[in-house]
Amino acid sequence: MAATVIKKESSKQLLAALPELVAQLLAAEEEEPCPPYQGAEELTRLFDLSVPECGLDHSDLIELLRKVILATPRTATPAFVNQLYGGRLWPATLAEMLTAMLNNSMYTFKVAGLQILIEEQVIAEMLRLAGLTRGEGIFCPGGSISNLVAMLAARHFALPEARENGLHPSAPLRVYASDQAHYSITKNAGILGYGRHNVRLIPTDENGRMNTDLLAAAVAEDRRNGCFPVLVVATAGTTVLGAFDPIPEILEITQRFGLWLHVDAALGGGFLFHPEHRGRLAGVEAADSVTWNPHKMLGVPLSASVVLFARKGTLAENLSEAADYLFQEDDADLNPGLRSIQCGRRNDALKVWAAMQYLGKEGLCRRVELQLALARFAALEISKDPAFELAVPPASVTVCFRLRGADSPALAHALNEQGLAKISWASFRGQTFLRLACVNPDMTEEDLRALLRNVKYAGERQQNAH
Ligand SMILES: *Cc1c(COP(=O)(O)O)cnc(C)c1O
Repeated sequence: MAATVIKKESSKQLLAALPELVAQLLAAEEEEPCPPYQGAEELTRLFDLSVPECGLDHSDLIELLRKVILATPRTATPAFVNQLYGGRLWPATLAEMLTAMLNNSMYTFKVAGLQILIEEQVIAEMLRLAGLTRGEGIFCPGGSISNLVAMLAARHFALPEARENGLHPSAPLRVYASDQAHYSITKNAGILGYGRHNVRLIPTDENGRMNTDLLAAAVAEDRRNGCFPVLVVATAGTTVLGAFDPIPEILEITQRFGLWLHVDAALGGGFLFHPEHRGRLAGVEAADSVTWNPHKMLGVPLSASVVLFARKGTLAENLSEAADYLFQEDDADLNPGLRSIQCGRRNDALKVWAAMQYLGKEGLCRRVELQLALARFAALEISKDPAFELAVPPASVTVCFRLRGADSPALAHALNEQGLAKISWASFRGQTFLRLACVNPDMTEEDLRALLRNVKYAGERQQNAH
């Protein structure tokens, strides 16, 4: 008989390999925070990724996994400032590993039990922090999907017939967001039948905040021209500059015109943990919906994103389906599958809950302070050094700057290729610059100094090469 089943000893050996693989990864991260770039061709030469005829035995599999994890880009080290996530929040990482062991699908209480109550608790806490005290929420597979669900609810608010009968709008729909909004807004407008062309990107001021006079003018103009304004997206923590749109002024406009207000706080939601810094999101408590990604500022492993709604019942109106093979027991309240875009749904709540348990309110505040302090420190070092130029004063946790005389995209590429750092570049108002994301609170001031030294070093090498 072919050995197609996993033997008991094998499962023990695979489990025993975990601490060892983790220890090796940690040692590698310590020794080489940013290994030199390996292109797809080189990796294809080094790894045979195809399905073998006969399955590997446990020791060969462990060996292969070891090679794979050591050849994978490292996102938990201080050299990774490329994206709005990074670092490793250990209690959440542990909870994530246990989530894989438990493997509950988060559609029914019958299948996920206590985990459903944990998810409810986390969402209740996020609703409380956002001031949406009578609302509801659901974990989604990332902020883009959270935005999608919010934009779906806004469509339903404007066109309640569309869910049953499809879209036959009497006039072109309109969505408003700033020109700094996340690209998922435009993508989702295409998916949901608003139409990508019907998203009006409102210009921003020199700090990347939406110009609300231009928003009011755009809505009024569209109304006059027979269009159908539906929703405004206020971004709390823009992807490039970390800027906050002025929610109270936007709210005044959405209320005047009867529009849906969605706050995309995928990044900036983290500030709600801090009693002083939460003021950046003042007005969020009057939003119709909010996107918030704990996998960004809270630092839990990817992915963890929640969409919150001011009014309970919104999710079921948009997403509920009957499925008697699945929803057989317990209160609808305990079966989030009735409020989710997914059927099978992984458990992203346990790691968020574990992080909240471990940090407590104090620790959650401290994280925000550390992130802000890192961004301020980086900005200060940059402005002290004449070789650098700050693009804009940092609004929150991203620091945008240039090395004078260097081409930022080429510099970011060189830093990656030479194994010095993973950092991204971005543009704003015709300027292109490096964007340093300070979301890993385990980074030190010394790490930031080393990073800036590496930027200069790579810049000099580039100049000499020319
Ligand atoms: C990151 C981000 C998103 C998208 O979130 P994903 O989880 O990456 O899909 C949306 N909006 C803003 C403002 C973001 O920063």
